Amino acid sequence: MLNIILMGPPGAGKGTQATRIIDEFGIPHISTGDIFRENIAKGTPLGLQAKAIIERGDLVPDDLTIGLVKDRLCKDDCAKGYLLDGFPRTIAQAEALKKMGPEIGRPVTLVVDITVPDEVLVERIAGRRVCPKCGASYNVNSMKPKVEGICDRCGAELIQRKDDNPESFKVRLENYYAQTQPLVDFYKEEGIYHHFDGMIGFQKVSEGISSLLQANK
Ligand code: ADP
Ligand code: ZN
Repeated sequence: MLNIILMGPPGAGKGTQATRIIDEFGIPHISTGDIFRENIAKGTPLGLQAKAIIERGDLVPDDLTIGLVKDRLCKDDCAKGYLLDGFPRTIAQAEALKKMGPEIGRPVTLVVDITVPDEVLVERIAGRRVCPKCGASYNVNSMKPKVEGICDRCGAELIQRKDDNPESFKVRLENYYAQTQPLVDFYKEEGIYHHFDGMIGFQKVSEGISSLLQANK
């Protein structure tokens, strides 16, 4: 069963790899960042609560985030597996997932962590453009879409995220090292942790992840 967590600092290539994984394995992509951004765009109460926090690069409170993921994981489409992207991001979230996963019959089976050195992350984030409709990521320097400014997958117009600016990025990276990186040891202890070096190129990372998933599905 492919009940997967995709981990890695902002800019490591999670979004790109997520798109490839869901296209190949047909499991739903659950990106907490995408869910928050949709709520912000629609002006929902959750969006209003999360907007300022996200734009400055901070983490949305655990209780809000955990409740949202639990509701999403309970949906029927997650019965065939799921790809969690951007969750968990704190030990409290990981503990909550460890409890709720088995309770709903959908425990995490694999953790995929992609790492990249900080200097590269800064550069990638500066050039990043995203599709507001399907969530696909591009880069103006290294991963251009076929037609400038347009998403290859769905044809929507690409945008730059509000939190992809140097100040918010610094906060996101600090939060990552302080709050999220401790999850590596957490999942190593669970025996489901797999590391990929994000510097070997998107294609190679993708092939590595694909064979791991093929062997575990
Ligand atoms: P990144 O490119 O930084 O990995 P994401 O799209 O995953 O971005 O998340 C964007 C923002 O949404 C985060 O910086 C944070 O403010 C909020 N967010 C997303 N997932 C979580 C989470 N699991 N817990 C708390 N906040 C989250
Ligand atoms: Zn798109």
